[in-house]
Amino acid sequence: MDARQAMQNHIVWQLGNGSGCKAFGHPWHGLWLQVKASSVQQSRLQVSELINQDGGWDNERLIREFGFATALYIAISVKPPSISSTREDRIIFSYAKNGQFTLKKAYQLIAATPDITVFQPEVLKVIWHTQGLLPRIRLFLWKTMHNSLPLGDILGRRISNASRPCELCGSQAETISHALFTCPWARTLWIASSLGLPTEQLPENVTDLLTAIFSAMDENGARLIANHLWAMWKLRCTEVYEGKKATPQQFLSLAESYNRLQLQAGLASIRNSNSATSQSHDGSVTCQVDGSLSSPDMAGWAYILGDEDDGLLQYGLQSGALSSPLHAEVRAMHHAVMAVSKRGVHECVFFTDCASLNLVINNSLQADQLDWRVYHDSLDVIYMFKINTGFKCEHVPREQLDTVDRLAKFARQNRVSYEGFTFPIFHPSTV
Ligand SMILES: [Zn+2]
Repeated sequence: MDARQAMQNHIVWQLGNGSGCKAFGHPWHGLWLQVKASSVQQSRLQVSELINQDGGWDNERLIREFGFATALYIAISVKPPSISSTREDRIIFSYAKNGQFTLKKAYQLIAATPDITVFQPEVLKVIWHTQGLLPRIRLFLWKTMHNSLPLGDILGRRISNASRPCELCGSQAETISHALFTCPWARTLWIASSLGLPTEQLPENVTDLLTAIFSAMDENGARLIANHLWAMWKLRCTEVYEGKKATPQQFLSLAESYNRLQLQAGLASIRNSNSATSQSHDGSVTCQVDGSLSSPDMAGWAYILGDEDDGLLQYGLQSGALSSPLHAEVRAMHHAVMAVSKRGVHECVFFTDCASLNLVINNSLQADQLDWRVYHDSLDVIYMFKINTGFKCEHVPREQLDTVDRLAKFARQNRVSYEGFTFPIFHPSTV
């Protein structure tokens, strides 16, 4: 992202009564999505026209105008304008707390802006759809793409606005592309690997870099490269933090060991999945789960799957008729564990604000203590927790599950179901 783009992202509209800001093309406060209008009527639409009689968002209208994912984002993370308010919409510089633009603030913003915000579908495809890739390697690639590996370039800028030189060669800034490819240390290992990967004249931008590498690969090739990248990263950390010199032989055998693990994981049926994969100690995937029920019987439930930095990996919401609040919670957990397993994740901490749900999962409630409809849904959940020893469920206070709670309510009120993966929805920096 260049500096001008970074500035533009922070010149936004703050909603007052919603009558000055256009629904399309004007970036609202906290809403970075620049959605384009598809018709002349749409381009004239004011934000205030999206408000219903009760002063809340008109969700049906939002969905009609923006499509589901954007509508959902607006509905749960943007405060609706207050039509009756006398305060008008205004343009602010959101990077400054008081909204006032100053050169000093602008400079700080540019210094703190990482290079990446554009996501190439090609790379995402490799990350999420390559069969058998170990979950920790998927996460590693995901982080690489988000420029969030702990490297001198990134750490340095967070702390002092200046890049730090490479820990191993000392000659250049320690960017991701340097650390994994162009550093003489890395280059030696790549050459030894005989994968024929170019290590010169690679793009500095991580997304371009990964795209350049993965776009020509089939699934096997992508998996091979991903394993080698992960091995490279592991060895680099060992050398930097423990001072252990890595040899090309180690590099090859480490990458090969991930290949083997993946093969085993692929072959192992779900019954004994803990043999091959539970050795992984990611512990980094979390899933928030919540259900919401109103009388009579209309329920919504949702989950949000995130990485250790609260980055969004995936979310889902569904609605339907259920028998009780507990039933909505159990169904939410059912939805979540299925989504998590389907993704190939074997270690995950699930968060719920429902103490009874924990009892259900631990099988501490007897069948006759539960409504038969709840019992029926709970069987799958209990089974999934039994076979996945890496699944844990934790009870947390309601306040910690605010977003997923709103998702579940949205599903219930609008009777909708949806599964999404896209950033920047719910990205911490935008909510
Ligand atoms: Zn270096």
